[in-house]
Amino acid sequence: MRLSTKLVLVTLGLVIVPLVLLSASLILLRVYRPRALRTDYGQEDTNIMNINVIRRFDALMSQLEQEMEKRPAESLLDPAVLAGMNESLLADKAYLLGCQEECYFNGADSGSNEDVLSYIRSQEGFEDRSKLYFAGLSNPYLIGCRRFAAGSEEASLYLVLDVSGSLPSVTRIIFLITISVLALAGGSIIMIGWMRLKFARPMKQLQTAARSIAEGNLDFELVPESDDEFGELMGTFEEMRQRLKMNAEERLRYEQDSKVLISNISHDLKTPITAIKGYVEGIRDGVASSPEKQRKYLTTIYNKADDMDRLVDQLAFYSLVDTNRVPYHFTKIPVRAYFDDCRDELAPELEAQEFDLIYENTVAEDVLMIGDPEQLHRVVSNIVSNSVKYRSRTAERGRIRLSVRQEAGMILAEMEDNGIGIDPKDLAHIFDRFYRSDTSRSAATGGNGIGLSIVKKIVEDHSGRIWAESRPGEGTKLTVELRVYEESDHE
Ligand code: ADP
Repeated sequence: MRLSTKLVLVTLGLVIVPLVLLSASLILLRVYRPRALRTDYGQEDTNIMNINVIRRFDALMSQLEQEMEKRPAESLLDPAVLAGMNESLLADKAYLLGCQEECYFNGADSGSNEDVLSYIRSQEGFEDRSKLYFAGLSNPYLIGCRRFAAGSEEASLYLVLDVSGSLPSVTRIIFLITISVLALAGGSIIMIGWMRLKFARPMKQLQTAARSIAEGNLDFELVPESDDEFGELMGTFEEMRQRLKMNAEERLRYEQDSKVLISNISHDLKTPITAIKGYVEGIRDGVASSPEKQRKYLTTIYNKADDMDRLVDQLAFYSLVDTNRVPYHFTKIPVRAYFDDCRDELAPELEAQEFDLIYENTVAEDVLMIGDPEQLHRVVSNIVSNSVKYRSRTAERGRIRLSVRQEAGMILAEMEDNGIGIDPKDLAHIFDRFYRSDTSRSAATGGNGIGLSIVKKIVEDHSGRIWAESRPGEGTKLTVELRVYEESDHE
């Protein structure tokens, strides 16, 4: 059964159950109350709906009997005495009538009691008990009678209780119940509409969204329309859709990246292989005739093989980075000594490439950082090899400035060159994997666009940051920020 149908049924149930209960009480009222009125109060008129009124009337009758006992019987027909007795009863909308034979003495204002009097007159032998009387108008009365002997004659004292305000008629009750039922039904219709709006609509939206996702369509937006549980659910659903979309896009990008990587690798391997083949042929065919020429050929072959070795090494490492399997060996590293060693290692290589290395290190001797020395070395060497790769063709000698300093709990290692620089449009992407600027693509050395993505990954795995600044034609500066090791952080 659909949820909206269930909701309608529940709401209808909410109307029907009270309706049934109301009808049952009404039936009980119609059956039980007249019986109770007949057996307990001797009332034949079953229109009386309020037993409490009869109880009150009985109480007044007993009060009247007590008053009668206190006074001599003759005085009970005295209008002044009746008026006195009336005073206490009037508060209860009751009054007394005294009568002897055909004469009636009205203790209260008799003008308004004409119909009561004519009723009493018409009731021959009015019994010593209460009776209900409906006047010709709409006013109902309860009338009780007590007989007594006044002198030689028999007299009667009537207690008349106006119950018009206390006896709602059955039709009035039914009218009120009908109004209540209509209000209940109206309320329920409004509630069904509200529930449809609040539950069925968002459910439908969620269902459509889920179906779209199942069909692989993630290009839609689910906007929560309320801040209730449904709104929250829709918000979570939208989050899930966005994440799925991101994953799908990532997977697509990954597939494209892999294709690009394969094409780059084949190109990057093909170039040195072609060169190696050419030089080997040169030696074999005797083109390199002099020993000096042969040495030059062999050095070139060695350098090309070395390029290939580096490329293969980088690719192997990239696959580790890509699958998050880089084997880190973190240790405490003395910052100053570490970068001093880097300088010592880089200096001869850079000198051979006709580069000047300017080295500044202002970090105190005892400052430590946590890191993997081998991977941090990869960071420095990748950055420096880019500086060499993208050296300026106009400058006579290349220049690299490696400067290390400490700033508020952080180690900042800046590596700045005077190379060709990076175009502003490329700068934001150089850390993306497989990103190569146009200059890189056309450069003789070529590039595969994974060097800086590896660098970024290693730095981030050290909880550090890396960023680049560059001016095309002037040079590039890469800054690596790493945390200083504080003994207190690790206690
Ligand atoms: P690539 O193999 O292309 O060098 P990288 O990830 O190492 O890949 O670098 C990405 C891009 O950043 C390069 O294509 C290059 O355009 C640019 N780049 C990086 N370092 C430098 C630098 N020192 N000078 C100029 N351009 C640079």
